[in-house]
Amino acid sequence: MNVLVLNCGSSSIKFQVIETDKALIARDEDRCLARGLIERVGGLALIRFQATGRAPLKEDAPLRDYRAALDRIVRWVISPDSGIDGLRSAADIHAVGHRVVHGGEKFRASVLIDRAVIEGIEECVELAPLHNPANLRGIRAAQEIFGPGVPQAAVFDTAFHATMPPTAYLYGIPYHLYRRHKIRRYGFHGTSHRYLAYRYRTMRGLPKEKVNVVTLHLGNGCSACAVKGGASINTSMGFTPLEGMLMGTRAGDVDASVLEYLTHKEGFSLSELLTMLNKQSGLLGVSGMTSDMRELLEEEREHGDRRARLAIDLFCAVVRRYIGAYYAELGGADALIFSGGIGENSAAVRRRICAGLECLGLSLDQRRNAALAGGKAGLISSARSRLRAYVIPTDEELLIARDTYRAIAAAGAARGA
Ligand code: ADP
Repeated sequence: MNVLVLNCGSSSIKFQVIETDKALIARDEDRCLARGLIERVGGLALIRFQATGRAPLKEDAPLRDYRAALDRIVRWVISPDSGIDGLRSAADIHAVGHRVVHGGEKFRASVLIDRAVIEGIEECVELAPLHNPANLRGIRAAQEIFGPGVPQAAVFDTAFHATMPPTAYLYGIPYHLYRRHKIRRYGFHGTSHRYLAYRYRTMRGLPKEKVNVVTLHLGNGCSACAVKGGASINTSMGFTPLEGMLMGTRAGDVDASVLEYLTHKEGFSLSELLTMLNKQSGLLGVSGMTSDMRELLEEEREHGDRRARLAIDLFCAVVRRYIGAYYAELGGADALIFSGGIGENSAAVRRRICAGLECLGLSLDQRRNAALAGGKAGLISSARSRLRAYVIPTDEELLIARDTYRAIAAAGAARGA
């Protein structure tokens, strides 16, 4: 089955076409046939497409909305120019899988999309006012283009964290505010953390119940997850993705009283405060320079920049603190798993995070650590390390494709029964 996986942002669409089915999943041989990104949907869009093993295509074109952008993707995917094996017409795209950011308390797993599911995603719009509307636009565009004959599934960023106990998801605010407004920790990056736990299990040949790890998704957005018996029991992002670790431009954990203090001291409005916390903080805010970890490392190395060093040190200290907290919450973990642009590519940041974790039984193998980058997975701790450490490149799209296939297969089985 060829699944078109879509990740629709506020003005962008990321996609992959993935071939998957029961046999391919069992052999772990499902594969990405093509991928791409359209940015600046609504204006002169930037288009980047690439079929696996072929040269990339880059062009600009005016694309007025999601429907036009998705139409452009589908026409390229099935055209002889893309050269994708087995894709000759729209009928060769058998299903569509959508990344949906917020599933609230309603969606605890991936689902086939029908009218009730769309209503459910609409109900979650007030929890994710920037993201869910974009996801819904993608779903509607796909419905218009493919019609009712092509099944679509929704895979939620929050769903993996649905197993958190109340002691992890409740805030210490009056309980009726949780009951009335559903104010609680939801957590995000769930598909990524689930993938990391799954890939770790297959690398080690373990059953799911034996997966007790701390997964670290360190990209522009950063989150940690405590995985016990293969399920999420806590995660660092909260009611929104703002909470938790220091990120590229997000502050992470901050005492809420700072907000009131700043309205007095700086005259900030509520929306200015949120812009400051979401867009002007984190690595960017502390360094005063950039949100890009690679550039900060370069500044530190080339010019000994003090603020760049401070931002990196603060970033590593916060990650380390979460590792310690989750190690305790898990009652001891077997492994740390690094992922995301920073976690997958920066041996230096991994080394700085792990320095000081010897007390948990972690001993990094410096040679292995230095050798792992550029999309490779592997062990980076030494043979004597009690707590292992791995680098695993994340692959949310693969799980979205598999979930889409499984949701369709389950619906078929239910109809047959
Ligand atoms: P997103 O969360 O938007 O998907 P990524 O996972 O691509 O982002 O992560 C982006 C971050 O990864 C940036 O801070 C970038 O500098 C960092 N990064 C990518 N490659 C390297 C590298 N070789 N060394 C250090 N940081 C890197």
